[in-house]
Amino acid sequence: MRTLLVVVLSLAGLATVGCQNTGLVKSPPAPYFGPRVAAGTAYAPSSAGSVRAAPRSQPVQPTPSEPSRRPSWSTAAWIPDGQERPWQFIVVHHSATPTGNADEFDRMHRAKGWDELGYHFVIGNGTGSGDGEVEIGSRWSKQKHGAHAKILGHPEYNDVGVGICLVGNFDVSRPSEAQMQSLARLVRFLMDRYCVPRNHIYGHGQLKPTDCPGRNFNYADLFRRL
Ligand SMILES: [Zn+2]
Repeated sequence: MRTLLVVVLSLAGLATVGCQNTGLVKSPPAPYFGPRVAAGTAYAPSSAGSVRAAPRSQPVQPTPSEPSRRPSWSTAAWIPDGQERPWQFIVVHHSATPTGNADEFDRMHRAKGWDELGYHFVIGNGTGSGDGEVEIGSRWSKQKHGAHAKILGHPEYNDVGVGICLVGNFDVSRPSEAQMQSLARLVRFLMDRYCVPRNHIYGHGQLKPTDCPGRNFNYADLFRRL
């Protein structure tokens, strides 16, 4: 009987091995401003001068012509509605442009014939959006596969890979401190929520021959922050 009890307890212990945080992050702490972010109304950016600071009315439901791209400074806003995709990878990019935001890149990607913005998140550098501001791409809201890491023979990097783009050209500049802070917060959030291991976090250039996210992007700095 005692042996049986030990076996049962051991199995129960085994069942918790793996991503220990799943149970916790599925019930995240209450956000400081309420249970959900109302589009464009509730976030309170801490940095002065954010171009997205002024609240503006936006449709809560995305329309085909203008999908919802919600700026957010809060982890709670990153929790998607409805069924979540079983994300396994995180791929970091730079925009390779000195300025920009999710709307601009969305237009660029559509102009190439893509369905919509290829990334799931865009982290601003204070030009087209706030410095360190995390913009939620329309793909994330829909929990749709990415269009940011097309690797021959490896569809998984788009299928279940979260694409995060930092605005800037890090071949010639560096991410701002605010961008790195937000990137680390976002990556940590994704790691915890989807049990993404550290060795599933990549820069685009680690998956295919490209400079992205720029030769000045400091991987060690990112991993130190996680
Ligand atoms: Zn890239």
